[in-house]
Amino acid sequence: MPLDPQSIRQDFPILKRRLPGDQPLVFLDNAASSQRPQSVIDAMTDCYENFYANVHRGIHTLSEESTAGYEAARVTTQQFLNAASQREVIFTSGTTAAINLVARSWGDAHVTADDTILLTICEHHANIVPWHQLAERVGCRVEFLLINDDYSIDTETVAEALQRLQPKLFAFTATSNVLGTVFPVQQWAQLAKENGATVLVDAAQAAPHQAIDVQDWDADFVIFSGHKVCGPSGIGVLYGREALLAAMPPFLGGGAMIDRVTVDGFTSAELPEKFEAGTPPIVEAIGLARALQYLQDTGLNEIARHERDLAAAAEQQLRDVEGVNLFGPRQSEKAGIVSFTIDGVHPHDIAQWLNLRGIAVRAGHHCAMPLHEHMGLTATARASFYLYNTLDEVEQLVDAVKQTREKFARSGRRRRRSSISS
Ligand code: PMP
Repeated sequence: MPLDPQSIRQDFPILKRRLPGDQPLVFLDNAASSQRPQSVIDAMTDCYENFYANVHRGIHTLSEESTAGYEAARVTTQQFLNAASQREVIFTSGTTAAINLVARSWGDAHVTADDTILLTICEHHANIVPWHQLAERVGCRVEFLLINDDYSIDTETVAEALQRLQPKLFAFTATSNVLGTVFPVQQWAQLAKENGATVLVDAAQAAPHQAIDVQDWDADFVIFSGHKVCGPSGIGVLYGREALLAAMPPFLGGGAMIDRVTVDGFTSAELPEKFEAGTPPIVEAIGLARALQYLQDTGLNEIARHERDLAAAAEQQLRDVEGVNLFGPRQSEKAGIVSFTIDGVHPHDIAQWLNLRGIAVRAGHHCAMPLHEHMGLTATARASFYLYNTLDEVEQLVDAVKQTREKFARSGRRRRRSSISS
């Protein structure tokens, strides 16, 4: 059944917000961070109001209840990912923290100066900088797969690079946060395995919009953030294959991650605590679990189809606007992300003009500078859709883009006339 965004909107209190000038909010910045339904806010408030305490350590009622809530969230997350065991689900503070954990713990233990890390040019900085930092520490090489003119990466290119470079790790995003390209994770992971590479999938842009089965993907690490899946900020998930995680040294040291500490040293706790030093994101985990349930109850396939329809409608209409340039692959291979520029208008000006009409989009390099540089751009404007967006909002976006273009074309003509006459 298709989604009914009007009824979904009732679940999200922030969408009732009026902006200056009493304008309704048109929130199209979902790839940066989504909004939360009331059920997530309620679950978190319930914890703070009724049973919050630190987890794992206390022998008292509240601590036991908080621990039960936190560990139940791990089970919900395990089921969301179809991970084989709860021990494979590590809560971190976000995607960035999780990738850094892998780079520090797995990377420092396994990667040497002779090794190569293979990435795609489409990566977010969170999946580039930790590998550059690893390269600074151990001297390995970081190589990038480039995109074709149609913004795709063919399987043959991936297979050839894996064979030629024999990378220690192939780390790639499941969905580009700029182009919206959805990459064939399972196929790439299999090719990587055939060439002996460990596989890390940045699922920050995939988890909000598609059902993930880590066993089907057969990836070694899969990572996403809570704030993009209608959950809270401050929490992320690292899925890791149990045998790999068990063999990895802990990353952060401190409370909760130890078995024993003496004046001479320490021994680590078992999984997953080994990688959860300090007080974890307790309330955030409870909120995340509620968000994952909300997405599953709504239907991830339906969410994906709805966003694709919105993005297709936006692209179709924007394509007809003179001076508008779109960046991304054919629609069938795309998530609900539309990145564009307008000739003669800086993307920051586009975002500012849309904001005056209550429309929130993002402008800049979207933490993907190498991709922008590869495309010969410094910035794009990006509209990103989610389950609560409507076709009416697409129309508002397109109208506002047309107005922005006309406004800047007029002021360009005025500037040219005055410089001719002066
Ligand atoms: N990877 C991708 C593809 C992303 O879109 C983002 C967030 N924009 C990140 C990583 C980083 O996520 P976070 O800021 O939650 O750590």
